[in-house]
Amino acid sequence: MTATHDLDLDRWRTLPALQQPSWPDPVALATVYETLSQVPPLVQPGECDTLRSRLADVARGEAFLLQGGDCAETFAANTADGIRGKVRTLLQMAVVLTYGASVPVVKVGRLAGQYAKPRSSDLESGTGLPSYRGDAVNDLNGERTPDPTRMVRAYANSAATMNFMRAMATDGSADLAAVHDWNNDFVLNSPAGDRYQELATDIDRALAFMRACGLDLEKTPQTHGVELWSSHEALLLEYERALTRPDENGRPYDLSAHMVWIGERTRDLDGAHVDLLSKLHNPIGVKLGPTTTPQRAVELCERLDPAMQPGRLTLITRMGAGTVRDVLPAIVQAVEDTRGARSVVWECDPMHGNTFEASSGYKTRRFDDVMDEVKGFFEVHADLGSWAGGVHVELSGDDVTECLGGAQQLTDADLAGRYETACDPRLNTSQALELSFLVAEMLQQRKR
Ligand code: PEP
Ligand code: MN
Repeated sequence: MTATHDLDLDRWRTLPALQQPSWPDPVALATVYETLSQVPPLVQPGECDTLRSRLADVARGEAFLLQGGDCAETFAANTADGIRGKVRTLLQMAVVLTYGASVPVVKVGRLAGQYAKPRSSDLESGTGLPSYRGDAVNDLNGERTPDPTRMVRAYANSAATMNFMRAMATDGSADLAAVHDWNNDFVLNSPAGDRYQELATDIDRALAFMRACGLDLEKTPQTHGVELWSSHEALLLEYERALTRPDENGRPYDLSAHMVWIGERTRDLDGAHVDLLSKLHNPIGVKLGPTTTPQRAVELCERLDPAMQPGRLTLITRMGAGTVRDVLPAIVQAVEDTRGARSVVWECDPMHGNTFEASSGYKTRRFDDVMDEVKGFFEVHADLGSWAGGVHVELSGDDVTECLGGAQQLTDADLAGRYETACDPRLNTSQALELSFLVAEMLQQRKR
């Protein structure tokens, strides 16, 4: 490998790294690393700093974080319609939260880089094939041997997505005046879609009033354009390291996304992922599952945010609906006692603790369990006086049938209709909108 190694930034190479593919050819991997360390960055350090300051508002209790997108993006589904659908769904959810609960919403996509997946087993049950590890590694429907050149394709797909997201954020299609256009035809006849239409009509009226008062909405940053950030799980260390670049002051940023997070399976305190991410200057997240001890949560905070930088660290709790009320309080208490009140962003991922196999064999989640975990999360934070800062959801901008329930009352028998995820089951647009209406009510009810 000709790329120079920084002793400190490359210390992770000497540590146990879980969930890395068994790349068969080290020379091919080194060539890809070399290529990826020369490509243009997808984001800029200053943008990561701006997101950090937005997240500091969330930590303080002055904003709410909405993070969402696919469990696993795929090259095949990375189409104009696919991206537009997800961005519109995020914008719709954000406007529901902002309008319904009078709180600014920080919008972060699980988008433009979510191409690598941790797996519970190296081999797929049933087929005995190597497990699918995301499009950056192998092919769900084809060759399962890890191929590092797929990381270059993941980069190229992320660049195209980022480019489209940036265009959508500024070309007028994300303006508040376009609020009606974000509703997809297929949600129009769903209860959440109808409710959204009513809200959009209210917003239209408010905008007409503001126009009549002489405000030029096209020239007003609050109504023209939108801030939309990118994020993904920083799983493939070669990829993340290759895209890590110094800013003008020599501070390293992972410029593959604005925000990156460490997954539940790779958050070992002395492991490679925690080591590399502890050195980045991006805002970062870490998933905390139901086995997390309060002490481990505090240790992770110390390791990942030693300087206690506002907005630096988001703790993404994913406990399960039946567990959140029992396990979360001691964790929140320990972190807030040792690090100070409102020193981190608390975000609820109500998806990953609520997955099960339906009798039809599909991996699924119940909408009611998802909502119950969010409710438990709000209850715990209300009891402790901490700030329930955000939600992290897996969603599609399409009319898929992957999660059960919701107002459409999807059943086990419906799952086969449009079960399209490459990994975990996602909320469809109607379910995602319904979730945002329910979260808006929870936000309204709480005291600041
Ligand atoms: C995910 O976010 O898709 C994921 C694998 O989550 P977790 O690390 O919480 O299991
Ligand atoms: Mn997932």
